[in-house]
Amino acid sequence: MGKISMTTPLVEMDGDEMTRIIWKMIKDDLILPYVDLKADYYDLGLVNRDATDDQVTLDAAEATKKYGVAVKCATITPNRARMQEYKLKKLYKSPNATIRAHLDGTVFRGPILVDGIEPYVRTWKKPIMLARHAYGDIYKNSEIKIGGPGKAELVYTEADTGIEHRQLIHDFSGPGIVQGIHNTDASITNFARTCFNYALAQKMDLWFSTKDTISKTYDGNFKEIFQDLYDSEYREKFEKAGITYFYTLIDDAVARVIRSEGGFVWALKNYDGDVMSDMMATAFGSLAMMTSTLVSPTGAYEYEAAHGTVQRHYYKYLNGEKESTNSVATIFAWTGALNKRGELDGNAALQHFAKTLERATLDTIAAGKMTGDLAAITTLSHVEKLDSEEFILAIRDTLDRELAE
Ligand code: NAP
Ligand code: MG
Repeated sequence: MGKISMTTPLVEMDGDEMTRIIWKMIKDDLILPYVDLKADYYDLGLVNRDATDDQVTLDAAEATKKYGVAVKCATITPNRARMQEYKLKKLYKSPNATIRAHLDGTVFRGPILVDGIEPYVRTWKKPIMLARHAYGDIYKNSEIKIGGPGKAELVYTEADTGIEHRQLIHDFSGPGIVQGIHNTDASITNFARTCFNYALAQKMDLWFSTKDTISKTYDGNFKEIFQDLYDSEYREKFEKAGITYFYTLIDDAVARVIRSEGGFVWALKNYDGDVMSDMMATAFGSLAMMTSTLVSPTGAYEYEAAHGTVQRHYYKYLNGEKESTNSVATIFAWTGALNKRGELDGNAALQHFAKTLERATLDTIAAGKMTGDLAAITTLSHVEKLDSEEFILAIRDTLDRELAE
């Protein structure tokens, strides 16, 4: 059988540490033997980010805009310790934050469900995709520690007229704290649009929740923008696709999510999404089984694993010890990108390959062959714990069998 050809490249962003090792194994064993890969390659490993003064990250983000599909390996976000370890010129920003800002994108996180790894919430049968608004609120706040008695006010001065709008926050009689936060209609609208588009593309219901009963103006504004956009541009498309848009108070949403079967997209404000995404990852079973997709309002997609570079495993690997790193989320980043490329280019063979590789990965686990992190939590009784490379080779066996069928 000949290799599957591609008409348009996808953007490939290489990364760091153990995930960089796994990246190469996935390409060598699971992609390149089957696909005549067209990739616009960017090395986002920390060494090359430092060598290029992080220009490579911006170039990769720009290429993602151009080609519309990217796949990214986990990368180190440097801190002081990394600065010494890699003798960096400076403390670079997180590549994910740089790319997200460049694309004005929204991150959708979702679990990979497989027989034998059961969610802690027994009712969940289908994935819940979490969409987190990634601008403003407490992440761009302004805070003051109040030393003693005095008035704290909100002041907005109109740029054109100089007119001041004032509102009392609190008349302090003793020490305390005060905080100012903001958001913009433009950013909220982009977020809403991306969520509606994503729900349509996935054919999943969209839920959105805020605390608008308490925050009538601030959270109320989020609710209104979503509703107005839905009514004016998306209601018909949703009805045609047989999916619904559902707004509810966040307290109610939390209760309904736990009782639900899953199978929907849950859009959340910045802080709610930050907290809930960590809870959902754990509740679904494993961080190593979470994917993450960055979607821009113009429809560019970047796929990656939700976990980091698995540093501890990397040092074992460097010492020549056996390690057992779970490659599932990284494989699904590749299949997500290949499938989207196939969809955009009308390349059915590429889409079929991506879907088969996903199935082969899940079937391998369901047959009891898995990495150590999954072996520790599986409900299956006959389990073979494999190291990183053995697991990928086991998937290859399943893949060859399923492609031949
Ligand atoms: P991490 O790489 O996600 O790993 C945390 C721990 O979770 C690991 O030590 C491991 O536990 C377990 N784990 C995560 N992924 C796994 C996998 N695929 N297979 C098996 N076990 C897995 O997070 P971190 O150690 O906090 O961060 C390491 C580096 O990654 C940091 O430099 C951080 O900046 C970066 N990071 C990057 C991204 C990204 O690029 N999107 C995201 C998060 C973090 P055990 O050690 O107990 O086996
Ligand atoms: Mg968090």
